[in-house]
Amino acid sequence: MSTSPPHDKLFIPGPVEVSPKTLAAFAHPVIGHRGDAFKNLYRDIHPRLQELFGTTQPVFLCTSSAWGVMEAAIRNVVRERVLCCMCGAFSDKWLDVARRCGKQAEPLQVEWGEHIDHRELDRALASGRFDSVTLIHNETSTGVMNPLPEICCTLAKYPEVALILDTVSSFSAVPIQMDALGIDVMVTGVQKALALPPGFSLFSVSEKAIARAEENRDRGYYFDFLEFRKQQRDWMTPSTPSIGHIFAMQSKLEDIFSEGLSARFERHKRTNALVHDWVRERGLDFFAEEGFRSVTLTCVKNNRGIDVAKLVRELRERHHLLIDGGYGKIKGQTFRLSNMGDETEETVAHLLGCLDDVMS
Ligand SMILES: *Cc1c(COP(=O)(O)O)cnc(C)c1O
Repeated sequence: MSTSPPHDKLFIPGPVEVSPKTLAAFAHPVIGHRGDAFKNLYRDIHPRLQELFGTTQPVFLCTSSAWGVMEAAIRNVVRERVLCCMCGAFSDKWLDVARRCGKQAEPLQVEWGEHIDHRELDRALASGRFDSVTLIHNETSTGVMNPLPEICCTLAKYPEVALILDTVSSFSAVPIQMDALGIDVMVTGVQKALALPPGFSLFSVSEKAIARAEENRDRGYYFDFLEFRKQQRDWMTPSTPSIGHIFAMQSKLEDIFSEGLSARFERHKRTNALVHDWVRERGLDFFAEEGFRSVTLTCVKNNRGIDVAKLVRELRERHHLLIDGGYGKIKGQTFRLSNMGDETEETVAHLLGCLDDVMS
């Protein structure tokens, strides 16, 4: 008999730790995706998904990681020219994705660690050259949370511009009201704050985005928004979805709504504050500028010359906890601690205690 090594609990900012309850739901026996059991499943989870999105529009289930839908948003919604708000690894990449989809894409770039300023966005949009904007709410690589209300206020001045928003690492941990904010495509993955296994996404689109899709010829098939909308009306998906994910989602929605949304938002604030206190008390710093720090993860600036690779390794070997040693060009200069998903003050305090042990 082979013995599997002990599981290292995930405190990386995605995928995050998945609970035994969610995993059990994920392993539900497979059902057919064109039958009543499936339609009832989709119908059952839909109102709660709409509530999480803050929308009266349909919410679509997509079997791909979030990048699939991010690319889909470009293909369905962008007419010609898109402005990509760039402040870290994920948002920077969107420029490349848009260009590979044959669109004219231009950067609104700020330094990593800084936020997107709505006044700069205003100046760029005033040129009248852009029909769409891409934005990442919570830039997971740098730990910056962009000021959505201000940015959406600015966009409201430009009704002909569509806003494509990635909420992958903030969705369900902070309130985001899609309709009230005027978001045209809102996309999230499931392996971040929703704490489901990776490989599945949720998205919703405005009437404006649907109208754009109708006029856009190059939507492809797998990610065609119009197919999603047509199938959703019969509580189905365009192709065979990952059915296990949808059972896992149903189980997770039970968790979320029995805790209560505001309690869930508050819990993320409290666990994040614990990490912030620890960073300050240990003489460390934040990579993200003050006032724009994420509440779902912390990107710690390594101002103490810590051997980050060693820290990550020892935390894993001694305590079976996995943290992230920094993303892309800030690897080693930073490390990231996630508090999203099911984490509590107790589990986050445990992580911080183990970090102290390894750092001492
Ligand atoms: C994780 C993440 C993604 C990428 O998601 P995939 O599921 O790997 O496609 C995109 N955007 C943000 C902000 C993320 O945190």
